[in-house]
Amino acid sequence: MNVKANISSDIKVDYNGPYVMSIGGRLVGANQTFDVYNPATGEVIANAPEATPEQVEEAIAAAKDAQPGWAALSWEERSAYLTAYADALDAHKEEIITLLTTEQGKPRHSMATVEVEYAIYWVREVAKRKLEDEVIEDTPEHIVKVAHTPLGVVGAITPWNFPILLGLWKVAPCLITGNTMVMKPSPYTPLGTLKFGEIAQKVLPAGVLNVISGGNAQGAWITEHKDVNKISFTGSTATGKKVMAASSGTLKRVTLELGGNDPAILMPNTDYKPLIPSLFDAAFGNSGQWCIAIKRLYVHDSIYDQFLKDFVAYASDKVVGDGMDPNTDLGPIQNKMQYGKLLDMFADVKANGCKIALGGEIDVSLPGNFVPITIVDNPPRDSRIVREEPFGPILPLVRWTDLEDVIADANNTDFGLAASVWGPDRDKAIEVANRIEAGTVWVNEIHIHGIDIPFGGHKQSGMGVENGKEGLQEFTNTKTYMFKK
Ligand code: NAD
Repeated sequence: MNVKANISSDIKVDYNGPYVMSIGGRLVGANQTFDVYNPATGEVIANAPEATPEQVEEAIAAAKDAQPGWAALSWEERSAYLTAYADALDAHKEEIITLLTTEQGKPRHSMATVEVEYAIYWVREVAKRKLEDEVIEDTPEHIVKVAHTPLGVVGAITPWNFPILLGLWKVAPCLITGNTMVMKPSPYTPLGTLKFGEIAQKVLPAGVLNVISGGNAQGAWITEHKDVNKISFTGSTATGKKVMAASSGTLKRVTLELGGNDPAILMPNTDYKPLIPSLFDAAFGNSGQWCIAIKRLYVHDSIYDQFLKDFVAYASDKVVGDGMDPNTDLGPIQNKMQYGKLLDMFADVKANGCKIALGGEIDVSLPGNFVPITIVDNPPRDSRIVREEPFGPILPLVRWTDLEDVIADANNTDFGLAASVWGPDRDKAIEVANRIEAGTVWVNEIHIHGIDIPFGGHKQSGMGVENGKEGLQEFTNTKTYMFKK
């Protein structure tokens, strides 16, 4: 099969709007719209359609209609479609990057570019993966074979921190395994997702990828619907619990990628100077609005004082500003709801008399949701800034002396998303990593992801995984065939 995207002449996408939903191959608006803001300026930049219950119904029906035909294609044919989709996205990548910065806030020249390029790479690479049938037994008398069959219609619900990457992380494995999808992005950042849905309509068969927009209600309609067979959700732990409860009515499969409060542990005598840029980016990248950001940095007593000084000096040079400005290192907080939560967290830090080593004052007179890089010097272990996920550019440094005690404190959380351990003695660091209760633990590195590397949370950070063979399998039913020869 020769699938080719007509990427230059056929696809006309206006990035200034209108912003439309993709339902059964048609581009549709809605009677009601909601405002989308630029978080750096506070200005309304677009109106997005508020899907009606009928439109959500239509999107699910379109996905259901399209699914048998899509599943009947060979794996290679679906792969060709996804490769064509990656080509089409690539042809529009500059516009998508600008749109991402405008609606999400992250710097265009760094984080936004990385997010969009990485997302497209993901689609292209997942298109090359295949789940092979597995022969469990093959004797002269008997064969046992395990195959992976599509689930049907998948509902995908995404958050506002990495809307393009987390969206396409769901699209690619869902489609390559023979499912169709209805996607709903966060109401705070719907525009890029609506546009990648629009591009898909020029390349993929009608109904294979449907994108609707709206608030939390639209998400709930998808999770409750009897014709949706799986929910792939990324968002907060609180919403994840609602998604799981709603999915139980029809025993939908669920993959939940939820919140985290990731610890990083610096072991005694770590030569930390070369690590400072990585540690800074891992904690403050995307302005801390990152599920796997370092949210608690435990520094051994032997290096704590000097580390604090050097880390603060490095962070002091970083610029918080409008993501369209090439001098900006960190953009604004994406929305007023999260900004309000940070105001509350900053007030709590102050009220509890925590020592602030950098930042600490939010200037509420600014038009955008700007929050300064803030480093808290050894707050009490039971303070909110250590125990909760702030989801902003504020990081507690915690001094430690006793290894058993720091491991216990790192694990003293309902979250279990990721963690990192850093130190000169690799074996010792690995020993500590083995005892951290988290889905991913990095040693002397951080934030490495890969198409073939499963990623998912332990405890209340999630259920199931994305990526890797295991991530593909989560979009399938396991089907066992047996027969006598
Ligand atoms: P959120 O849970 O508020 O919203 C996520 C999505 O769920 C949105 O599209 C929202 O409209 C929808 N939604 C809300 N209520 C719903 C309901 N009852 N039924 C169905 N859908 C509903 O999360 P957020 O504030 O957008 O994102 C931030 C959170 O996401 C943080 O906790 C962060 O750690 C987490 N996150 C996790 C990962 C991961 O991979 N583990 C990645 C990114 C973000």
